[in-house]
Amino acid sequence: MPAAPKPRRLDARSPFVFDARELGRRPGAMREFDRDLPAADLLGGEKAATLDGLYSAEGADLRLTLRVESVVEGILATGRVSGSLVGECVRCLDPVEVDLDAEFQELFYYDLEDLTAEEAEEAQRVVEDLIDVGPLVHDAVMLELPLQPLCEEDCPGLCAQCGARLADDPDHGHETVDPRWAALSSLAQGGLPGGPESAESGQQRGNGG
Ligand SMILES: [Zn+2]
Ligand SMILES: [Zn+2]
Repeated sequence: MPAAPKPRRLDARSPFVFDARELGRRPGAMREFDRDLPAADLLGGEKAATLDGLYSAEGADLRLTLRVESVVEGILATGRVSGSLVGECVRCLDPVEVDLDAEFQELFYYDLEDLTAEEAEEAQRVVEDLIDVGPLVHDAVMLELPLQPLCEEDCPGLCAQCGARLADDPDHGHETVDPRWAALSSLAQGGLPGGPESAESGQQRGNGG
């Protein structure tokens, strides 16, 4: 098997990077962490690009608890992200607070030598006694968040014509004009139905038949 590429160095200051040095590579050793999670880092910026910008980092309150256990092959990380995020109702665009409780578990390998090439490609690695749970947290959260947040299950949304919020005004409506009346009203404004074009097409029909 060709030598695996050297793993990318991890930034120990990242909120998603955890130090497993204390475990001393002794199988059975265990440590727990509890951290506030900066939603902007989680969402990859101010808005979650992966969710069409439906969730905002502003107003988010997230916590990450993580248990790291030393096992023979590496570090087993078991985590949970809980708290709330503020999304946007897909119908009326009002802010919606969405509770979140997402879990993940992953084994970080010391080395990938005993894995098949395919397994190695998917595997997470321990890099200089550090592990980066960022991608796991991100995936777990994205799986858990509703793709179509709604302020209410039956949110009536916005008026298609003027954008008014229908929940505030249940009787909201516009005078709809019957298409036949619309034709008449265009007549009244000076247009003739058909006009020269329709006369022409009538002539063509005559020639052809
Ligand atoms: Zn709504
Ligand atoms: Zn309207």
